[in-house]
Amino acid sequence: MQRALKLFPGGVNSPVRAYQAVGGKPPFIARGERALVFDVDDNPFIDYVGSWGPMILGHAHPQVVEAVQSAAQRGLSFGAPHQLELELAERVLEAYPACEMIRFVSSGTEATMSALRLARGFTGRDLIVKFRGNYHGHADGLLVEAGSGLLATGGTAGSAPSSAGVPQAFADLTLVAEYNDPSSIEQLFSLHPRSIAAVIFEPVVGNTGVIPPSPAFLEALHTITRQHGALLIADEVMTGFRLAKGGAVERYGLKPDLVTWGKIIGGGLPVGAYGGTGALMQQVAPSGPVYQAGTLSGNPVAMAAGLATLRLLSEHPPYAQLEAYGQELESGLRIAAERAGVAININRVGSMITVFFSKTPVTSYNTAVSSNRKAFSHFFHALLDHGVYWPPSPFEAAFISAAHGQKELAITLAAAETAMAAAATAGNGS
Ligand code: PMP
Repeated sequence: MQRALKLFPGGVNSPVRAYQAVGGKPPFIARGERALVFDVDDNPFIDYVGSWGPMILGHAHPQVVEAVQSAAQRGLSFGAPHQLELELAERVLEAYPACEMIRFVSSGTEATMSALRLARGFTGRDLIVKFRGNYHGHADGLLVEAGSGLLATGGTAGSAPSSAGVPQAFADLTLVAEYNDPSSIEQLFSLHPRSIAAVIFEPVVGNTGVIPPSPAFLEALHTITRQHGALLIADEVMTGFRLAKGGAVERYGLKPDLVTWGKIIGGGLPVGAYGGTGALMQQVAPSGPVYQAGTLSGNPVAMAAGLATLRLLSEHPPYAQLEAYGQELESGLRIAAERAGVAININRVGSMITVFFSKTPVTSYNTAVSSNRKAFSHFFHALLDHGVYWPPSPFEAAFISAAHGQKELAITLAAAETAMAAAATAGNGS
């Protein structure tokens, strides 16, 4: 880590890995195998990070590794059309029947950024709406938060950059609404009735910890966007192929105009994508006027990893098993918390789970961030000390993989007894 701190800001190549939310130093990972990661001293950890979502089959699945090796032997990148792109595209689109065409990129950030450009190009409008606490990658226009009093005063206070380096002029084009609050969307549309190009949302929030959508919220999203001629963009970077084969779109019967993907569709290699109807996607260059490109887009090795992953998910759907493991994990954690006398609220959708150290149910950004961070940090470190690698932030989802089984569950729940007792020493949250 000392070497890393000299080389990288904070010692890492993506902020959450630095353990700032929980304190301490992250282990360096040497290898992964099924549900386990091993650090450089060969200590095993049961992994609930799963590279933040992609590793739904567990680490180094032999068939995925073989597909990658075989693709690599045929060349690492061509910058020209090749067959694996077609096969992966057909698999993704088959799982999302409302999408007819797709464009591959190399990250979730690129996927959402490009989908928003397409929505603006298609509608000829400049404003977009996002939800407080939803994360869609680090493009300028998405690192934006509600300015003080935005919603309280009816929206005129404007939005503010949430990162240095994002110009206020970009923030001005992004309006911020409250998740699970239909009236906040209505308010923004009534203030800007003909200027909003798109609403982008996480269909199940993972980036404030897990927050499921309410049925009324989902309905309002569809009705209001349609009524005002704005596009609805379901950001399935985290949820796609995780909550079901057809992601949250299938699970909740959503009808978005555009979908963005990442994580699982690359099987652990850098892949993102966006897709929608032919009429919309034909607006993208070179068919249409919305420019978007990428040297490594559709990279054959990355396509091979994604294709092998989606093939395995289709041949041996893990979703019932993930649900069962999730249920057992959730109820075991509840029992451990009760025994330790610590107040928790668990949000879980399938294989995405968050333990909030909070007395109140978590349905929004505000209820999530008012949970007890110190209790979480104690919980996290006790788990880590007992060989369980939980996400190092109170506001992230833990991910279960198809390689997690009864043995991993038993070890996790034994560790959870100690971890909940450790959390209890921080006192109960709000
Ligand atoms: N959208 C969502 C919903 C995400 O969870 C993430 C990453 N966690 C992104 C977009 C950005 O993806 P990437 O990190 O691949 O740029």
